[in-house]
Amino acid sequence: MESKSMDWANLTFGYKKAGPNVRCKYENGKWGALTFSDSDNVTISIAATCLHYGQEAFEGLKAFRGKDGRIRIFRMKDNAERMMLSCRGIRMAEMPVELFCEAVTKVVEANKDFVPPYGYGASLYIRPLIFGTTPRVGVSPASEFEFIVFAMPVGLYFKGDKETTPFMLTRKYDRAAPLGTGTYKVGGNYAAGMVAGAEAHDMGYSAVFYLDAREKKYIDECGAANFFAIKNNTYITPESTSILNSITNRSLQTIAEKILGMKVEKRKVPVEELATFEEAGACGTAAIISPVERIDDVDKGVSYVFSKDGKAGPVYKKLLHHLQAIQNGDEEDHFGWITYID
Ligand SMILES: *Cc1c(COP(=O)(O)O)cnc(C)c1O
Repeated sequence: MESKSMDWANLTFGYKKAGPNVRCKYENGKWGALTFSDSDNVTISIAATCLHYGQEAFEGLKAFRGKDGRIRIFRMKDNAERMMLSCRGIRMAEMPVELFCEAVTKVVEANKDFVPPYGYGASLYIRPLIFGTTPRVGVSPASEFEFIVFAMPVGLYFKGDKETTPFMLTRKYDRAAPLGTGTYKVGGNYAAGMVAGAEAHDMGYSAVFYLDAREKKYIDECGAANFFAIKNNTYITPESTSILNSITNRSLQTIAEKILGMKVEKRKVPVEELATFEEAGACGTAAIISPVERIDDVDKGVSYVFSKDGKAGPVYKKLLHHLQAIQNGDEEDHFGWITYID
């Protein structure tokens, strides 16, 4: 794909081949050198552990171009640390945080022309992934792994004419068990959520909110985004052993507390409490924040409405404004979140 032919204003979140990707192999107990590839294919054994037993983890982060033309990668080190947590969680080789960051930096440099210009709400999405490549048919962890980082320009994740979108809530499915792999960013969790997600889309919802798998009383998260809500100048987000520790959520908590002077509560959120919230949102790197129009409890036929006119609330607007301003460099980064590529 040629960067010159990009229609920056109408980018989707769909896969597109952009510039080179960076790869690294783990063999004989150590990581090798980073290499560039122009191909978007991999060649692995038909018996590789990733294909049979789901030994795969990934990350998602973004780079933005500021008014000054500089490229800013957002919270790369946090993604590196989370990927290592995921690797430990499903018995894959960890890599030094510095090597992860070097690979991400190299990909961004090699894809500079694909970082969208300032002002389109678009960004360069960076996707690191790691998977077990050792051929095994008996179940045991691989001893060889491949790490790849690729990048592509993306627009907004949820598109529509309204700002807000509806979500559903159901007790029919679980995404992750309380002591399972919910805290790891692994492909297997996504496979587990495909049926519920497709059902939600068929019914006209953006996504599913899962409840805690043990008691089915508390909000966990979406398949790919954390939940937060606003009430009485307080930012409230679920505490749970089966949700992914979202870096967007952590950033919003910091902005709420340090910039907006709000209270932040990380605690269990009972379903019935939804009726008391002034605003609600789903947050993650891909969608940034999706303001929730309503959450329909489809099992009980109850609808929790947060927006009647399709417009997002005032706190959402402030949170999004500051997060994007820091990412684009319109506002100073007081938190050490940005890595510059010149
Ligand atoms: C990636 C992901 C998120 C969002 O995390 P960010 O770090 O904000 O991108 C939320 N939930 C799940 C299950 C995820 O995989």
